[in-house]
Amino acid sequence: MPTQKIGIIGAGLVGLATAIKLKDIHPELEITVWEKERDAGQHQSTHNSGVLHAGLYYKPGSLKARLAVEGIRAMTAFCVEHRIPHDICGKVVVASDTREVTRLDSLFERGVANGLNGIRKLSRGELKEIEPMAEGLAAIHVPEEGIVDYRAVVAAMKGVLESQGTVLRLSKGVQSMHFASAKWHVASSSDSYECDFIINCAGLQSDRVARMAGEMPTTRIVPFRGEYYSLKAELGVKLRKLIYPVPDPVFPFLGVHFTRLIHGGVEAGPNAVLALDREGYKKWNVNLRDMFEALGFSGLWKFVATHPRMCLHEFSCSLSKKRFCKALQKLVPSIQESDLLPGGAGVRAQAMNAEGQLVQDFDFIERANALHVLNAPSPAATASLAIGGHIAAKVSRLITSNS
Ligand SMILES: Cc1cc2nc3c(=O)[nH]c(=O)nc-3n(C[C@H](O)[C@H](O)[C@H](O)COP(=O)(O)OP(=O)(O)OC[C@H]3O[C@@H](n4cnc5c(N)ncnc54)[C@H](O)[C@@H]3O)c2cc1C
Repeated sequence: MPTQKIGIIGAGLVGLATAIKLKDIHPELEITVWEKERDAGQHQSTHNSGVLHAGLYYKPGSLKARLAVEGIRAMTAFCVEHRIPHDICGKVVVASDTREVTRLDSLFERGVANGLNGIRKLSRGELKEIEPMAEGLAAIHVPEEGIVDYRAVVAAMKGVLESQGTVLRLSKGVQSMHFASAKWHVASSSDSYECDFIINCAGLQSDRVARMAGEMPTTRIVPFRGEYYSLKAELGVKLRKLIYPVPDPVFPFLGVHFTRLIHGGVEAGPNAVLALDREGYKKWNVNLRDMFEALGFSGLWKFVATHPRMCLHEFSCSLSKKRFCKALQKLVPSIQESDLLPGGAGVRAQAMNAEGQLVQDFDFIERANALHVLNAPSPAATASLAIGGHIAAKVSRLITSNS
């Protein structure tokens, strides 16, 4: 039988991990990964908080819950094996009022149901003991979580691919594709290629790549920018762990929080505001195609109409440092605006349906000769190896039944 050719579109953590896992089970496959940028992992995979999430938030039984728990363990083992800087420093989730205490209890039950190790409830005094700067009525301690250098993870994954003989084609943005005579004909800006099966891991562009392949996904990627401040070093050194608020269960965003960075320093954020440029990292970046597509999507307007307070709050935190600081003071009351220095930003690829609902779980379209990742937001960096394993198992089944 001739060697099957697999084409993966997108060399973020999900695309890279998928290539590694697929080659692990099928060393005979010829795999090519196309990436439109000059290097792998230039978008979400390195514009994120650098946190190793353990699966606290996700609905028990969901794919996110399973792959997050499996994923943090796989990612931690990968970091150990490849000597990637990481630190399992633990996290506290802090309830600031009685309503949040009730939600914190449900979160604790989720964490237990999802199989997190060592998770425990903290009283106000216990919180103070392990995180003296934080203030709250109650908290949860999640000792399994930590921080990592995702740039180093991308570099290590590239090394593994090279050793496996997978071809990474950089600066090759896929611009069109069609299926004819039992083959995909994929064209990039400068050449074309044939393959038997395609896997779309294009992150912020995944809905467009799916449409390029003839799909009509019922969801759209709505880009939500997350903005950060850096904490002044004198204050940053006083924080020991990651400090998170109790999130609103309606949204997949976690609320602004404090994250220690693996190479030193502490970041505060990210918020979540509509981005007018899917790959723009400055506040006022606008891409006309992205803007018109987002504003012309009825789902977005339904989302805004259903959650006006949340949208206004996030937008005002983006425009006003004072508001951003106020949200942070819920967790660390002593923090002042002057402690916050300008930081970076990332853009989340979040799928939304036409009713304006955010897709909560990881989501895929599966065909006989294609698989499209339609929703892989946080914690998909942590869970990338588990997601890659999940996709590889699906693709293995599909190509075996095709042959
Ligand atoms: C602000 C923010 C904070 C986050 N914090 C965390 C965190 O702390 N922990 C965590 O686990 N997760 C976090 N996440 C989520 C996580 O970063 C993403 O879920 C994950 O990186 C998704 O990886 P990906 O490979 O799907 O996407 P990406 O990394 O975006 O990769 C997609 C790739 O596809 C390429 N591409 C697109 N179109 C084409 C085309 N036509 N041809 C060729 N290539 C193409 C892109 O250039 C890109 O390299 C965060 C995300 C954001 C934005």
